[in-house]
Amino acid sequence: VDKLLETVKHLSFPRRSASAEEARAAEYVASRMKQSGIDVTFQPFWAQHTFSWVFACIYAANLIAPIAALYSARYLALFFGVVSILSFYAESNTHEVFARLVPKFPSRNVIGVIPAARERLGTIIISAHYDSSRSGLSFHPKMVKGLRTSYILMSVSLAVNSVVAITSALFGRPGIAYLAAPTVIYIAFAILLFVHREFFGKVTPGANDNASGVAVLLDVADRLSAEPPRHVEVYLVATGAEEAGTVGMIRFLDAYKASIKGAQVINLDNLGTGNLKYITAEGMLHTYRSSPELLSHAEVVASENPDLKIGPMEYRALTTDSLAAMVRSYPALCVMAFDDEGILPNWHWPTDTWENVDPSNLARASEFVYKLISRLDAHLPLR
Ligand SMILES: [Zn+2]
Repeated sequence: VDKLLETVKHLSFPRRSASAEEARAAEYVASRMKQSGIDVTFQPFWAQHTFSWVFACIYAANLIAPIAALYSARYLALFFGVVSILSFYAESNTHEVFARLVPKFPSRNVIGVIPAARERLGTIIISAHYDSSRSGLSFHPKMVKGLRTSYILMSVSLAVNSVVAITSALFGRPGIAYLAAPTVIYIAFAILLFVHREFFGKVTPGANDNASGVAVLLDVADRLSAEPPRHVEVYLVATGAEEAGTVGMIRFLDAYKASIKGAQVINLDNLGTGNLKYITAEGMLHTYRSSPELLSHAEVVASENPDLKIGPMEYRALTTDSLAAMVRSYPALCVMAFDDEGILPNWHWPTDTWENVDPSNLARASEFVYKLISRLDAHLPLR
């Protein structure tokens, strides 16, 4: 049987962020790294179960602004109008604002290190999150294509709401606040969608998202530990609570700051089905460019190995662990796979099962990452 698919199968069960099931998955990932002879540590941290309540709070805060304006509470309107916009932008770029206020539960990163065989001239972090997401109507196969559009529409609505509320409050004209009625309805509906997701959504088996990335991470780890790169030290980081807001990656970068100075990140997410891509830029609103150095090596590996069937693409949907790294000034490159319309197949939907994962995708992704690291090892020092 295919070993990579076997790993995906093994991990395909609901693994909600910061849950007991997530912890069980962490144990499995750690045991696999240990089998490859790798030193493994757990990095425990606290995380929320979901990003739903964080964004529901931001939207609710935004709705308070026009209501406050109606009652001529001008400072309240100003405060909530401004805070909601700033925190929406911050959270969309993996900066925690409202995320600090919601209840937290134990989660952990699984971290393995493969030291360079000779002198260390560079550090590469290979990351893949091992938790899985809850489904929600926004991810319905008929709706998911509109996710980015509705996200942009939401940003505009929040801004309009704030501007109307603040104008109304500052000029002492409560009547103006009524102009916000359409956006208030839209934002209230979005809050209902989050509530619906948390009460009626199912935590998916997460075979593609992201048992596939973990399987590739473990496969590459196995190969690298058998014959470590000469000058590249490799950190293998299986992150927890990514689906709750890239919490594991944020905690890792923070806690390991001193030992990973100058490191580059290769992040693996949703590799199991569709067309393999290395990501050139990410971000919902703000654009973060991937590591130019990793990109140039990725280009060479892709063109020298057409059988890997991998090419470049921009990714402009929800945040990834690589985005969290780029926001924190770590050069990063994400590897993913998309359907012909550029959508992640079975994304955050109950159909994300191991039967829908293509073993050939996993093998090609693993080969790509392995070749990329070998190439980096031959071209050190990194910038
Ligand atoms: Zn994912």
